[in-house]
Amino acid sequence: MVHTIVGANWGDEGKGKITDLLAVNADIVVRFQGGANAGHTIINEYGHFALHLLPSGICNPKVLNVLGPGVAFDMEAFLKELAEVREMGVPEPQIAISERAQVLMPYHILLDCYEEERLGKQSFGSTKSGIAPFYGDKYQKIGIQVCQLYYPEVLREKLTHALDIKNALMTSLYHKDPVDVDALIEKLTGLAEQIRPFVADTDEILMNAVRDGKNILMEGQLGTLRDPDHGIYPMVTSSSPLAGYAPVGAGVPVWSIRNITAVTKAYSSCVGAGPFTTELYGDEAEELRRRGGDHGEYGAKTGRPRRVGWFDGVATRYGCEIQGATEVALTNLDVLGYLDEIPVCVAYEYEGKRLTRFPVTPMLEKCTPVYEILPGWKADIRGITRYEDLPENCRHYVEYLEKLICCPITMVSNGPRREEMIYRKSSMPSVIC
Ligand code: GDP
Repeated sequence: MVHTIVGANWGDEGKGKITDLLAVNADIVVRFQGGANAGHTIINEYGHFALHLLPSGICNPKVLNVLGPGVAFDMEAFLKELAEVREMGVPEPQIAISERAQVLMPYHILLDCYEEERLGKQSFGSTKSGIAPFYGDKYQKIGIQVCQLYYPEVLREKLTHALDIKNALMTSLYHKDPVDVDALIEKLTGLAEQIRPFVADTDEILMNAVRDGKNILMEGQLGTLRDPDHGIYPMVTSSSPLAGYAPVGAGVPVWSIRNITAVTKAYSSCVGAGPFTTELYGDEAEELRRRGGDHGEYGAKTGRPRRVGWFDGVATRYGCEIQGATEVALTNLDVLGYLDEIPVCVAYEYEGKRLTRFPVTPMLEKCTPVYEILPGWKADIRGITRYEDLPENCRHYVEYLEKLICCPITMVSNGPRREEMIYRKSSMPSVIC
């Protein structure tokens, strides 16, 4: 059975925790898109991890962790993260890297940094991990696949061709030094040898696992609103974080996906640029940011303070719908226990009209939130394990959100640790209404 875990919003919803938890019963965990720009926080018996490229099943020695062909594979980031995980005392993880995955090159990172610098105030808030130039090259068909690293003549020819273009940009547009092909080949060859034991035909591994009825988790990075097609273009990421892309980026048959869990926080948070309708500012924002997540709302990858706001029912309903979510995991509910009243965004106002459908970016930029005010529960709910034991107003909040987003909330997370999870039976059918 294949289970996909994806973000309903702008990313940072707590997908890492949900995947780590579900990985206890998984045989395989797959990353199917994005690269080392992810920041999935996992807290378990080995400690506190901010995973960037490694799949979130990495702490479970029984799990095979797959980096699928859709991933932007940064060899240096991978080796560094693997060394860190080993240092934390995690038993030797099982890892398979798709031979068809493409290699994120050092020049992708340079170009990402130079471009953000050139854009100045108009920058996209990139994590400067090279992701946009990487995917640009992939679709321009000048990317290098992992398998090509082991064919020296092919590698030299492809790199020479790519560098003709890259070096023109480096020198003419950015006024920087060109990249030397020989030095680059030497570096890549050394790294390729280090990753060689992990390189595999992951399509075959996954296809066989599906046939054998294994439990496979596919883990999305970021969330719906950063999808290049359905998100807040152009303030989006460069690969699709949608469950619909998971079979492509991983290499499993579409029909094998049974569950799609969309993860959303009980409030909103967002790293990076773009319209964020329920954003809070000043003291109110500071307080929520300080209390949010496991030690405040600061990006797991960048350390940047996250933008925070009230729960956005319009964006989240759309986010779940586009994901094709069959269920929702609501995280960070414990964070809201300090509030007397909790605003929830139920609609947007656009030029005097009420919208309940998530609009296109130019409209979104002019939208203001319409709030319903719900009573708070003024209690610490960490440590509670049964849904019935949550304060009444807290349950009311969960059930209100469920109706608003039209998707059953089956998991309620009340703390950052793996075991802090309340399972819930929902009366809402698991279909999009
Ligand atoms: P991801 O990229 O979707 O995996 O999300 P991140 O790991 O970037 O951000 C989620 C943050 O929320 C992290 O700091 C988690 O440790 C934290 N977190 C996850 N679930 C909960 C929860 O239920 N309560 C609290 N307080 N923190 C949580």
